Amino acid sequence: MSGNIAEKLISCRRELHAYPELSNQEFATTEKITRWLQDAGIRMLPLGLKTGVVAEIGRQKAPLIALRADIDALPIEELSGVPFSSRHEGVMHACGHDVHTSVMLGAALLLKAREATLPGAVRILFQPAEENFNGACHLIDAGALENVSAVFGMHNAPELPVGTFATRRGAFYAHIDRFQITVTGKGAHAAKPEQGIDTIVTASQIVNALQTLPSRNFSSLESLVVSVTRIQGGNTWNVLPQTVELEGTVRTHNVKVRERVPDILTRVIDGVASAMGAEARLAWYPGPPAVVNTPFWADFSQRVAADAGYQVQEAELQMGGEDFSLYLQQVPGTFVSIGSASEFGLHHPRFNPSEQAIYPAAAYFARLADEALSALLLAQTAAPAESMG
Ligand SMILES: [Zn+2]
Ligand SMILES: [Zn+2]
Repeated sequence: MSGNIAEKLISCRRELHAYPELSNQEFATTEKITRWLQDAGIRMLPLGLKTGVVAEIGRQKAPLIALRADIDALPIEELSGVPFSSRHEGVMHACGHDVHTSVMLGAALLLKAREATLPGAVRILFQPAEENFNGACHLIDAGALENVSAVFGMHNAPELPVGTFATRRGAFYAHIDRFQITVTGKGAHAAKPEQGIDTIVTASQIVNALQTLPSRNFSSLESLVVSVTRIQGGNTWNVLPQTVELEGTVRTHNVKVRERVPDILTRVIDGVASAMGAEARLAWYPGPPAVVNTPFWADFSQRVAADAGYQVQEAELQMGGEDFSLYLQQVPGTFVSIGSASEFGLHHPRFNPSEQAIYPAAAYFARLADEALSALLLAQTAAPAESMG
């Protein structure tokens, strides 16, 4: 039985991998997941989603928990060389969401097999659009978390060996924000810069000045990353452009630091631009908040992982982001890392996670769901355990 499921999950993963789809365009992916769930007799919730699926297994009017997988891929040309490489030009499952989908499909199949004895219900969220951070809020708005008492999710960790599990209490992934800066000056002939206001030089000085944002404005004990990732200006060699656009991201863990960044950024860019006679305008796009694990469920997940045979580690703080944080703002739960042993990292065109990680993770999440429901049921009959939230 487990051998059959393990093989089935690998073949599902390969089918997803060969036909990856970008955020919010996961139509064929949604159809495949729906078919696999239907074949197993698993019921799906009519949430009216454009892409993505929410399934449910177990008894209603009992404790309910949720497991989440993300299903979208990235605009990357695959170079992994595996025989089931992407057939969609320029699109690749380079973050392993195909692995996550197979893991949670496996958990669903294993839970379905013991549905009659399950001490509650498990909702499986196959979430679209994690890479552009808007899938989780779609699912929440559609009601996917209604009546859910705890939520669990995973990301594969290429730097960890297969069989390794890591999580941590409290802060885990960072707050993610995006900014754009438009520098406006006065265009001029490249031979007569004195007749214009040079936006290229101004933008360059802004990039340099931004490097002092973490080091000169915040304690060195705070985590803060400011990266400029795009500079766009000009379209030929002998004209100074009227405008230059900069784009980048700010990553933080402390919400107070996060809140202060836009003001300081504005002060720095205004100062540099006005010294050059130019103008700089900041557009700030707040992204998903930090992933903060509930201590009770972080400990619980670690204990179940150790019982399931994983080598359990304390996860390091990440500067990456995850819209799983939005679920954790609604209900308690925890996000974990599971070793996938890829030589090349996430978002790399040669990323190639080990498929040996899939079945053990599926079995783990089925077991976690089962034990979490038992714990919730116990808490309902005894005094409510506040620490679970
Ligand atoms: Zn990713
Ligand atoms: Zn990812």
